[in-house]
Amino acid sequence: MEHAARSSDPRQSGDFATLCQHYGEHRLAHGGGAAPPIYQSSLFVFPDAEAWAARDRPNAPHFMYTRRANPTTAILEAKLARLENGTWCRCFASGMGAITTALGALLSADTHVVVVNDCYSPTRTYLTTYLARFGVTTTFVRGTDPLAFVDALRDETRAIYLESPTTGRMDVIDLAPIVATARQRGIVTLFDNSWATPYFQRPLELGIDLVLHSATKYIGGHSDTVGGVVVGRDEMLRQKINAEGELLGASADPFAAWLLIRGLRTLPLRMEQHQKTGLAIARLLAEHPAVSRVYHPGLPTYANHAIARKQLHGYGGLFAFTLRDQSQAAVHRFMDRLRVFSIGVSWGGFESLVVAGDASELFAPDPDQPQWIIRLHCGLEATEDLVNDVRQALEE
Ligand code: PLP
Repeated sequence: MEHAARSSDPRQSGDFATLCQHYGEHRLAHGGGAAPPIYQSSLFVFPDAEAWAARDRPNAPHFMYTRRANPTTAILEAKLARLENGTWCRCFASGMGAITTALGALLSADTHVVVVNDCYSPTRTYLTTYLARFGVTTTFVRGTDPLAFVDALRDETRAIYLESPTTGRMDVIDLAPIVATARQRGIVTLFDNSWATPYFQRPLELGIDLVLHSATKYIGGHSDTVGGVVVGRDEMLRQKINAEGELLGASADPFAAWLLIRGLRTLPLRMEQHQKTGLAIARLLAEHPAVSRVYHPGLPTYANHAIARKQLHGYGGLFAFTLRDQSQAAVHRFMDRLRVFSIGVSWGGFESLVVAGDASELFAPDPDQPQWIIRLHCGLEATEDLVNDVRQALEE
């Protein structure tokens, strides 16, 4: 089966790093500027009435209005489509803008969606409180058993929404059986690839229909912008996402798009460093007596490590673990003792971050759930400084 195959190693194919620098850029059309201009314009004028009349035709050469499309954003979209090995991309004002638009475009009253249990929690809220108001029903499934996704499908299922690794317990989902069934039954698969980025994982090559990103994370990489992405290959899906995106209006701002183009230039370098430090800290934690469990798909002891090795070509710097002492006081003590890691939400930037949460508030009820889960994002500080910081914070 084509979609069961391992994706080509994105780090090598088409030389990813070179594409990040040059793909989609037409410098001589912009006065030769090495960096593209920011088209900070809400509207674009037409040369004549004939061009105006042709404005809605497919591939019409003229930009019209930035909520629909913008030349700076178009550079980012071309680059991301190529990096994910898709044929089209639409950028959004945030990851949630991308997620809500894509799901909203596919679901309507009396339809059903199957969703991985530990998905980003606002995605869960959107489905269970917002789309539920319009008659959409959702079934949540733990990511460790691919057949459970297949079993959860109904006649009215229109979409399967996945994240792999998941937010929280970092479940890696075995995609082959899920995409095979979804293809047979005409169900659209969506995949949040924010954690791995196209540098480490290309879900379209594994048979997924739509790849989503919070570009706020690794694509931006500097904790200074918010953005979202949807990439695909199917023309009908492109039209649906574009129409829904333009209507709902969560379109990317050109300055944010420009910052994201800049972020992409260093994505390969940054991802290598996030991976290196993340693995070093995960190994330290795995051997530490104060730690009960480490949720990092790169550890050989990790439940779905074999699937991780099949689908991923590397690992992001975000992962979770639990302390043996499951009291809130122990968790807070660990957080307060950290000196280089700051306490803060989000991830994917240059700076290392820690957050902790009561898992029962984050995920759907599940017996295999610890109470307190601590999440680390390993940033771009020196690996040794971060390893030492975690080590000293664990000391009594
Ligand atoms: N997906 C994942 C996995 C996330 O962690 C986040 C945000 O933290 C989002 C999507 C939402 O992205 P944004 O904050 O850009 O709306």
